[in-house]
Amino acid sequence: MNKKIFIKTFGCQMNEYDSNRIFDTVQKIGFDRTENLNEATCYLLNTCHIRDKAKEKVYHEIGRVKKNFRKKIKPLVIVTGCVAQAENQEMLKREPYIDLVIGPQAYHKINHKIEEYLDKQKKIEETEFDAVSKFNYFKDIKNSSNKVSSFLTIQEGCDKFCYFCVVPFTRGPEYSRPFNEIINEAKILADNGAKEIIFLGQNVNAYKNENYSLADLILEVEKIPKIERIRYTTSHPRDMSDDLIDVYGVTKKLMPLVHLPIQSGSDKILKSMNRKHTVKDYLVVYEKLKKINESVEFSSDFIVAYPGEEDEDFNETIEIIKKIKFINSYSFIFSPRPGTRASNYELIDKKVSSKRLDIIQKHLFQNQINKNKSFENKIMNVLVENLTEDKINFFGRSEYMTPVILNGSEENIGKVVPVKITGSNKNTLFGKIENNSNQKVA
Ligand code: SF4
Repeated sequence: MNKKIFIKTFGCQMNEYDSNRIFDTVQKIGFDRTENLNEATCYLLNTCHIRDKAKEKVYHEIGRVKKNFRKKIKPLVIVTGCVAQAENQEMLKREPYIDLVIGPQAYHKINHKIEEYLDKQKKIEETEFDAVSKFNYFKDIKNSSNKVSSFLTIQEGCDKFCYFCVVPFTRGPEYSRPFNEIINEAKILADNGAKEIIFLGQNVNAYKNENYSLADLILEVEKIPKIERIRYTTSHPRDMSDDLIDVYGVTKKLMPLVHLPIQSGSDKILKSMNRKHTVKDYLVVYEKLKKINESVEFSSDFIVAYPGEEDEDFNETIEIIKKIKFINSYSFIFSPRPGTRASNYELIDKKVSSKRLDIIQKHLFQNQINKNKSFENKIMNVLVENLTEDKINFFGRSEYMTPVILNGSEENIGKVVPVKITGSNKNTLFGKIENNSNQKVA
């Protein structure tokens, strides 16, 4: 029988990268990938623990699969990712439909675990933290991703222990992959058609391998001729080192959008989050970057109504938004994650939280609208990624990561083209490919 794996991914780009690497691995034991759940002989759910009710969403999803296969042969069911790590044995007890539970630092063992399960028909849970062996294994398995914009995980885990976050518990301590391994993988991705590399890590700018830093990685990948754009996410303000900031003054390929979560504009709240930076530290980074490269813009993450947040603290957050004019940000009401220190803190009244979220989003969205509007009638460089779903237009991204819908032809896919922006809304720019490229590019 043909072995077909259906992979569903929840959560962040790191999970998307992991899902692809898992597929690169299970291919070795004969699995093909399918997008059709009904023909799957293996169902793999790669989970995320960041959002609210993450655990319940996973059980709900497994319930859906169970229903789907009620009158058919049961697929092998594997749960991976951060919920698998956090729940481990509990998952197998609560939902017997699940066969294997594998944590993020044990993906290199997946083939062995599948074979062991098929041989013994005994449920398996594997959640050991072993990032070194994992990446050591992956270095010999060719990354088959062939996307114009490809992710490349360079670092995993976190030592910072913000009091609201589960990552240090689900992904383990900070680990940086060897420099040469990353460069080799970037070359493979470039040969597969990648024009943009997005370095990933929970604390990507904490990357440190021997004497190499993220700045060194960027400058080295910049030398790969087929790569036209480089990005990285997600960073921590404390790790915005001077050598990384300096790269923005010399780079030709590092894009000018810095995603740098601040979470709150109040030092009191930052302290009670254990963020290990102040608002002033953040502003120093902002000023330095702006000085070295005026075109740099910022995006951020905000937690609204963190326990103890008073009106004064909230207003300070609004002030920082007005000052920095983040061009694209994520904002959420605080929700406790089991096992974290902040999960023991007293929650803020729901009405107050919702009102604050409305206010903050009004400011953030207005910044987005204003910024997008400012691009109208200008020429922007756009990396064309694919056809839109209606198969009429094309989808690309500006240097600031903003989605751009444009006219074009298939031969534009994978190319950076000058696009005249003819319209905009909060999330998207619309434009036409400009043949006269003598005009100034925004
Ligand atoms: S630095 Fe980021 S990943 Fe680490 S604990 Fe804080 S929020 Fe979580």
